[in-house]
Amino acid sequence: MVPVSIAEAEWAAAVRTVRELAPGGRVLLVCHVNPDGDALGSMLGFALGLRRLGVRDLQATFPGPFEIPDPFTGLPGLDLLVPEAEAYPDPDLMVVFDVASESRLGGLVDRLDTAGAAVVLDHHASNTRFGGVHLVDATAAATSVVAEELLDRLDVPLDAEIAECLYVALATDTGSFRFDMTTPRVHEMAARLIATGLRPGDISRRIFDSRPFGAMKLFADVLGRAQLDPTAAGGHGMVWTYATLEDLVRHEQRPYVLDALIDPVRCVAEVDVSVVVKQLGDGEWAVSLRSKGAVDVSGVAVALGGGGHRLAAGFTGYGTPGDVVVAVREELDRHLI
Ligand code: AMP
Ligand code: MN
Ligand code: MN
Repeated sequence: MVPVSIAEAEWAAAVRTVRELAPGGRVLLVCHVNPDGDALGSMLGFALGLRRLGVRDLQATFPGPFEIPDPFTGLPGLDLLVPEAEAYPDPDLMVVFDVASESRLGGLVDRLDTAGAAVVLDHHASNTRFGGVHLVDATAAATSVVAEELLDRLDVPLDAEIAECLYVALATDTGSFRFDMTTPRVHEMAARLIATGLRPGDISRRIFDSRPFGAMKLFADVLGRAQLDPTAAGGHGMVWTYATLEDLVRHEQRPYVLDALIDPVRCVAEVDVSVVVKQLGDGEWAVSLRSKGAVDVSGVAVALGGGGHRLAAGFTGYGTPGDVVVAVREELDRHLI
């Protein structure tokens, strides 16, 4: 299990490692495959901070298809992003963001061995403690909370660009400051970020409240086939639906639009657990799990080869959507809180 907070010795090791290796070396920043707002925002915010420190040889990347979801194409620091294939093969320093386990590093996992040192910033309870220096705090609402503190300890002042990246990350992982993780510490950090001159209304509209017309029509199809399973999870109930690659083609949409689908599904009042099964390839599905508090879905996801947080988790499933949901249903009863 991840300790409740980061030990001083670990902070000291991270600061020492960055100060020693970053200024004259090649620095590779990596976040998880299929990056979300926290992955990209914490990575790019930290990248801009390193740039302010005078670090010149700096790349940010993530494994898999080099596709940035539209809501994030306006993020500051995007010029630092390179495709996986162009990432330094043997960086002097690797810094990893929002990655709970090595499998989320895809083809970049080898850099853990080839890099001079690897510092990991994360907030998943399921973090497997890969890498050399572990800045992992399962009580942090987002990886950007850890990134902000490391920048502070490196004496990098916040500016509006760094703040925008960290704010997008914080707003994404707290569901716009609505989830349980939204502590006083989160609002205090948001206050520091907004004080740099951010416009939260503009940012929210861009990252949450904007989607193509075709995506709305796609959501209508996918939500229309949702099924209620009131006896799942020991009677707490489950709702589930699925989206295929054919759905994406029919509505001419990119896969990232499906990431927002879990939101309307998890609002179903009659049940505790919500599941969205999204096709990745032939018989391969990205599965999103949410609970309102009756089930530890992180435990469910870990049992099925994935990871995440107690109330929000995911894994890769195989077979048909029905096969995937049967596997989830079986695990739910083993992870009642
Ligand atoms: P999502 O449903 O994709 O928004 O993901 C919810 C949470 O589960 C996030 O914290 C992810 O990091 C985690 N997660 C999703 N998919 C996986 C996976 N295949 N392996 C490990 N963790 C995952
Ligand atoms: Mn993430
Ligand atoms: Mn996160």
